[in-house]
Amino acid sequence: MNYDKLTKLRQEIDELNLEILELLSKRANIALDIGKIKQIHGYPRYDPIREQEILQHVVKANNGPFTDEVVSCLFKEIFKATKLLQETYTKAGLKVARKTKDNNTLIEVKDVVIGGDKKAFIFGPCSIESKKQLEQTAELLSKKGLNFIRGGAYKPRTSPYEFQGLGLEALQLMHEISEKYNLISVVEVMDKEQLKESLAYIDIIQIGSRNMQNFSLLKACGKVNKPVLLKRGFQATIEEFKLSAEYIMSEGNEQIILCERGIRTFENATRNTLDISAVPILKQETHLPVIVDVSHAAGRKDILGYLAKAALASSSDGIMAEVHPNPRVALSDSNQQMDFTEFEAFLKHINYESFS
Ligand code: PEP
Ligand code: MN
Repeated sequence: MNYDKLTKLRQEIDELNLEILELLSKRANIALDIGKIKQIHGYPRYDPIREQEILQHVVKANNGPFTDEVVSCLFKEIFKATKLLQETYTKAGLKVARKTKDNNTLIEVKDVVIGGDKKAFIFGPCSIESKKQLEQTAELLSKKGLNFIRGGAYKPRTSPYEFQGLGLEALQLMHEISEKYNLISVVEVMDKEQLKESLAYIDIIQIGSRNMQNFSLLKACGKVNKPVLLKRGFQATIEEFKLSAEYIMSEGNEQIILCERGIRTFENATRNTLDISAVPILKQETHLPVIVDVSHAAGRKDILGYLAKAALASSSDGIMAEVHPNPRVALSDSNQQMDFTEFEAFLKHINYESFS
């Protein structure tokens, strides 16, 4: 007899469990809808005052047998689980997220595709210093069948007393030389004014490591119709890097190339530590092309070939490195720029011919 009662009560518990689960799921779906509305309006996701109100409300309605503390604890667990769920949904719902797009994003500039079957090799000096310097470099790159040229017009220098770049003069030089040699130019801008000034002269806008979280610049780049090469902040996590790309994409510009360029660690044998894991992770978690800047990662030139090979083996869509006709007299990053002979050896080391 007692056994029958036990079985019956257990059945009731089983049914109640399912009802609780149904209610919890219903609650979670409503919370997700609330999260979406909050996101649209830019309201903070976490609202401690609202949480407090809910707790007071349920505790007031509590008639036992659980104590108020236990009821509070149970609901706090529900809040925690809901917050986690909302975060997971927001991340998966990012415009840059792999899950939101079936295909890889391909970026087409002057008939060259970045992110497709062919690797993008972006070489050139750290700074644009003179017509002769840029033209010598362009001539070599074009002779090698390369498609891109990089060079800084505005330089983000640690000291305000160091060479700051030639600005407009450099942009004009880049425009003239890249047209003459049919190369795609990549030039960094550091603020909205420089972006505006550069647009007519360059093909790809670079956002440097120090400006990865310059949110007004990211938003401004999101409104232009030109590819953006976004470098990872040297103190930024992969998650923060993705969210910076999201800033650009959320404004409409989907042409984004991610660039891993090393992060700051305790290691000082290299200028930064190349985070090679970031490459496959970014390829897995986003649909954007990912390239690796080996020069700013290493800060030295003797290991560039090895780093580039590692990057290519890690599914990188391309490589960036600094090349200068005479690095010893370069006005910035003279230690890490390859001269032309070293560049030839670098290309050989990575077996460049096999990619062209
Ligand atoms: C650069 O590419 O010229 C540069 C300054 O790199 P980063 O922003 O990665 O330091
Ligand atoms: Mn440099």
